[in-house]
Amino acid sequence: MSGGGLAVRDRWFERRPVEPGLTLYREPAVHKWFRANIWYVRGRDLDLLVDAGMGIAPLRPALEEMDDRPVLALATHGHVDHMGGLHEFDRRAIHGADAAALEGDDGVHLGPFFRDTPEAVTALPESGWRLAAFTVEARPATRILRDGDTIDLGDRRLAVVHLPGHSPGSVGLVDERSGDFFSGDVIYDGRLLDDLPRSDPARYENTMDRLRELPVRRGLGGHGPIFDRARMIDLVEDYLAGRRAMGCPGGH
Ligand SMILES: [Zn+2]
Repeated sequence: MSGGGLAVRDRWFERRPVEPGLTLYREPAVHKWFRANIWYVRGRDLDLLVDAGMGIAPLRPALEEMDDRPVLALATHGHVDHMGGLHEFDRRAIHGADAAALEGDDGVHLGPFFRDTPEAVTALPESGWRLAAFTVEARPATRILRDGDTIDLGDRRLAVVHLPGHSPGSVGLVDERSGDFFSGDVIYDGRLLDDLPRSDPARYENTMDRLRELPVRRGLGGHGPIFDRARMIDLVEDYLAGRRAMGCPGGH
């Protein structure tokens, strides 16, 4: 049973300014499997939120950078730790292959996995909060992303890259000028997951090939620390080596 003896945490989100125009938010009291990165990108005409956390506590009021300019909240894919808070925003984007998560499909967002996780939280967002009552709020996308789309913030443009494998609708965002790569769960500095209900390791291998070709300078993943290009290539090779070790034909 959750909640027994856990303290309420005053500030649910931890805020870490990375550089001007880029801030990282995280949920320290959430189990590490679900403790995802939330990136706030300031734009001249439009701000961009890359992923939105679990939806356990309201995210919008915690975003200190937000003012009256519009915000596009974009989920890199449909898993609950990335889209749980998306419903709070008027503009909501996700790839079509994971869009059912925003409509409440728990086979896509996997919210029940979180409810079943021992020690899912180490603190409460408010008194009386219960893990057993945790739900993902449904609110459909206002924009469906496709490979090759552009997210235009006025002073920077990000290309949408469809990178399936971890989930069918996983996308990354590449800022072609700076080389920043918002990579979601496609690649991050940690153990990559290709065994979730809608994962497809064979497609993931093709995605790994595509990652090698992307003009990226550093990765800002869905979990873990920022990594540079050399580290990304190591992670790609490690994944493919792991597949070969399992006797899978890809991973050439
Ligand atoms: Zn995921």
